[in-house]
Amino acid sequence: MTTFDTSLAKLSRISETHAKKLEKLGLFTVKDLLYHFPSRYDDFSHIFNIDELVEDSNATVTGYISNVKTTRIYKRHLTITSATVTDDTDSIEMIWFNQAFVEQTLQTDKKLRVSGKVALSKKGAIQFNSPNVERLERVPTSTGRLVPIYPETAGITSKWLRWQIQMILSKDITYDDPIPKNILDKLNLQSLGDALKTIHFPKTELEVEYASKRFMFEEMFLLQLITLRTRAALSKEKATEIPFDKKMIQNFIATLPFKLTDAQKTSSFQILKDMERSTPMNRLLNGDVGAGKTLVAAIAALQALESGHQIAILAPTEVLASQHFNTFLTLFEKNDHSIGLLTGAHKMYGSHPALVQDVTRQKMLKLIKGGDIQLVIGTHAVIQDDVAFNDLTLIVVDEQQRFGVAQRATLAQKSIDSDDGNKKAVPHFLTMTATPIPRTFALALFGDLDVSLLDEKPGNRKEIKTQLVHPNNQKDIYDFIKKEIKNGRQAYIILPLVEESDALKNVKAAKEECVRLEKEVFIDQNLGLMHGRLKSKEKESLMTEFKNGKIDILVSTSVVEVGVDVPNATVMIIENAERFGLSQLHQFRGRIGRDKYQSYCFLFSDHANSQRLRAMEKHSDGFKLAEIDLKLRGPGEFLGAAQSGLPDGAMKNIANTKLVTLARTHAKNLLISDPTLKKYPQLKKEIAHYYKNVHME
Ligand code: ADP
Ligand code: MG
Repeated sequence: MTTFDTSLAKLSRISETHAKKLEKLGLFTVKDLLYHFPSRYDDFSHIFNIDELVEDSNATVTGYISNVKTTRIYKRHLTITSATVTDDTDSIEMIWFNQAFVEQTLQTDKKLRVSGKVALSKKGAIQFNSPNVERLERVPTSTGRLVPIYPETAGITSKWLRWQIQMILSKDITYDDPIPKNILDKLNLQSLGDALKTIHFPKTELEVEYASKRFMFEEMFLLQLITLRTRAALSKEKATEIPFDKKMIQNFIATLPFKLTDAQKTSSFQILKDMERSTPMNRLLNGDVGAGKTLVAAIAALQALESGHQIAILAPTEVLASQHFNTFLTLFEKNDHSIGLLTGAHKMYGSHPALVQDVTRQKMLKLIKGGDIQLVIGTHAVIQDDVAFNDLTLIVVDEQQRFGVAQRATLAQKSIDSDDGNKKAVPHFLTMTATPIPRTFALALFGDLDVSLLDEKPGNRKEIKTQLVHPNNQKDIYDFIKKEIKNGRQAYIILPLVEESDALKNVKAAKEECVRLEKEVFIDQNLGLMHGRLKSKEKESLMTEFKNGKIDILVSTSVVEVGVDVPNATVMIIENAERFGLSQLHQFRGRIGRDKYQSYCFLFSDHANSQRLRAMEKHSDGFKLAEIDLKLRGPGEFLGAAQSGLPDGAMKNIANTKLVTLARTHAKNLLISDPTLKKYPQLKKEIAHYYKNVHME
């Protein structure tokens, strides 16, 4: 008996070779194959008389075949198969290149159906190029209908897939529909079996649309169930209540050299209110680059510190972790809290910028475990290891560009399990990202999170002037930079070198470019070169020199991308800017324009018509740029590596507000009536499957 779980390799008609190829495509089970949807359909549904055929069209004819012939041209490694098909009105030649196997299907004694593209032959007559041929009495799969075309793959043809899928669908298999029947009825969606039959072998485009609606809903519905369940699980956990001491926070804010923006005030308030509750906060702080997220995190951290609790702040890079360490030491220098930095390169702690001491990792871990260090700053990786805390009450994750729903749940889970295996209180959890996330995304992806928006730039910042520069005009820009440096400012030059691939070659190229700039262009200025192969300490001392003004121009590969804050830097050149995505360009540019000075960003590129680069000139708002990026690249690409295991269909439809809302409402109602999904084992299974996939990456 064939079921969804039957392994494809077990099906008698699928050879071992084919099964291997399918596995490479990620298709293991019958269900996987049935969910491998066509990317488009060729319309061969209309049957013509041969004398009606015209050049350059898709057509189907029926008739008898004659003159079957295969010729080999050894020199050109070519086989040519040809035959003639004849109906009552006329005949037409058919031709196939390197498909000698079709000869077997060309039976001359039976009426056949032929579908294919009508094209002009060398001799000027019309002919069928590589048409599909089926016996007239057979159920049509590749001829005489809308014919499904599957995503291109080596060794697995669409024709083969059609045949296999048709065979499975014609069998008596059970379709375990994860969507409850009453929801299908209510939304007028097809049942799983019907929808699968339709999507692979539709009669009309309208039918395709109808079936797709069901699958779009299915994926979004599952995603919503997952986020809602994560949320529900967290809301059952206990967290430590941290009372909001208004006076203390106000006093702290009064010591700052600037006023908070309204967005910072609102976000801080939301966070402090969340932390007062006995259920764990699970909030995303979504703010454009330079919006001042660090300070909001600091306010939350200070409240927890003053209440005597332990806090962890996690950054994606060592450079950023040390930058935060210094920022927090300075911000809290009057508050006398012990702050630690724990990364691969650093183990140190102190309560004042002037009172910092280095210790061993072991000592550091002991101090953290004993609660002597109250605020631990580190990289994501370090904290995920074996660090035990005394009273971890708040976790802040900075520049969290990964969006995995399940990953967030895991991180929260990690911090729950304490030494003795008993569950302690769950820490409050604040995630910060500078990737502007459009509203519908937030709703679809972060249903388990509350979101605070920092959509306002602090201070009297002037808009960054951005200009696309053709290689011929680079000299003017170099001169301009020299002038800015004379006036006391600093600059970045970003090189488009991907760090991961072929790193050594790239480092060499970066060094060469830096030497060229030093020798030929910026003879009187100090340059520093930052790249991914430097040791953390080297990177940091470079950053320190840059911050202290010893370096005028920081030449850098994309490692400078996240978080770095040097307000005196006001000019940026991005070389070969066309190689970067819009979001990344915006992140780079966010390194400048961080103070009162006018800042300038020059995009070096000979792609004068690039929509992306033009958008950078026009817009400075990250949310606006994110929207454009989304339009240009589609949601999958937009979220890029960040998507982590989301189903393809859900990705494609994540910007579809109506669908997201609909799926969310139904998921909510279902969970109200049956929170553990006891009555819906199939749904439970799908969700478990999703989690498994995410954890495997
Ligand atoms: P991001 O949101 O990109 O992490 P940061 O937290 O690094 O931004 O802040 C960017 C810069 O703006 C820092 O130099 C910070 O000190 C400064 N800043 C933050 N809030 C304000 C404010 N309300 N007014 C003026 N400057 C601010
Ligand atoms: Mg930041």
